[in-house]
Amino acid sequence: MSKLLIVGTVAFDAIETPFGKTDKILGGAATYISIAASQFNVESGIVSVVGGDFPKDFLEKLNQKKIDTSGIEIVEDGKTFFWSGKYHNDLNVRDTLVTELNVLADFQPKVPKYFQDADFLMLGNLHPSVQKAVIDQIPNRPKLVALDTMNFWMDNTWDELMEVVAKVDVITINDEEARQMSGEYSLVKAAQKIHNMGPQYVVIKKGEHGALLFNNGDVFFAPALPLEEVFDPTGAGDTFAGGFIGHMASTHDISFDNMKRAVIAGSNLASFCVEKFGTERMMNLTKEEVQSRLQQFKQLTQFDIELN
Ligand code: AMP
Repeated sequence: MSKLLIVGTVAFDAIETPFGKTDKILGGAATYISIAASQFNVESGIVSVVGGDFPKDFLEKLNQKKIDTSGIEIVEDGKTFFWSGKYHNDLNVRDTLVTELNVLADFQPKVPKYFQDADFLMLGNLHPSVQKAVIDQIPNRPKLVALDTMNFWMDNTWDELMEVVAKVDVITINDEEARQMSGEYSLVKAAQKIHNMGPQYVVIKKGEHGALLFNNGDVFFAPALPLEEVFDPTGAGDTFAGGFIGHMASTHDISFDNMKRAVIAGSNLASFCVEKFGTERMMNLTKEEVQSRLQQFKQLTQFDIELN
C-alpha cells in the first residue's frame, strides 16, 4: 500500500455563508485533504501543528479513519491556527476576514520516521518554508509531489513560495490564484507561466465551474457536479486535492490519463464537502455514496458524436 504524507494546516475556522454562520469549528487544509484521501486504499499521515486548545478527540476521529496523526505537533501553551471567511451570494467569491497564524508562525516540521519514505507527498496549504522543509526531510524523492497554496502566501512569502513551487510535479490552485501567480487573465496562459515556474502538471480549480488539468500542450476538463444546494464551500479545494492525490497514490500510476481520473475523483469528493458546514459531510461519507456519485459524473460527461 502506498504511503501518503500530507502537510497543511489543522485549524479552527469561523465561516459565514448566505445560509448561516459558525463559531469556531474544526478545519484546516490537512484536515480536509486527509479525510478525502481516507476514501482510498492508502496509508496516510499528517505533518502539522496545533495548540493546547485543540480538542484531542478530533485527532482520535482522524485516527479512526486510519489517518496517522503522530506528525501533528501539539504546542500545549500555544493557540491553534485560526481562519475566518465570509462567502458572497455567489459562493465562488469569498473574503478572508481573519488569518491568525498562532503556532504556525514558528513551526519547524518533523516528518515521522515511518513517513520519511512516503511515495506520495501532498504539500497542502501552509507556509511555503514548512512545505520545503518537509520535502527536504524525505531522502528519496516521492513518486509524485503535489502542492496547493493560496493568495495569503503569494502576498506574504512570494520568494519562499517560488522556491518550493520549483520542486513539485503538480500544483493545484484556484483560478483567481492562478491569475495572481502568473499575472495572466487567460487561464491557458496562466497555466503555461506556472509550468515555467516548475510544475509539470497544473490543475486550476474553478469552484462550481469544474477544474482544468494542463500538461504542457495537453488539457483536460472536469465539470463540477451541478448541485441543487451548496451550503458551505470551505475545504472544497483541499478535498479536491485529497481526492486527487488519494486516487494517484492508491493506483500507483502517475500517467496523464490516470491524472484525469484523479481530477474526477477529486471533483466527486468536493461535491460532497460543500453540502454541509465544515468537515461534517466528509466525516460521515460512505463508499457507496462516493461510487454512486461517480456514476452520475460518468453520465454527466459521456456523449457520442459522429465526426465526418
Ligand atoms: P479551501 O476552502 O479548500 O480553500 O480551504 C479552506 C481551509 O483552508 C480552511 O479550513 C482554513 O483553515 C484553511 N486556510 C485558510 N487560510 C489558510 C492559509 N493562509 N494557509 C493555510 N490554510 C489556510
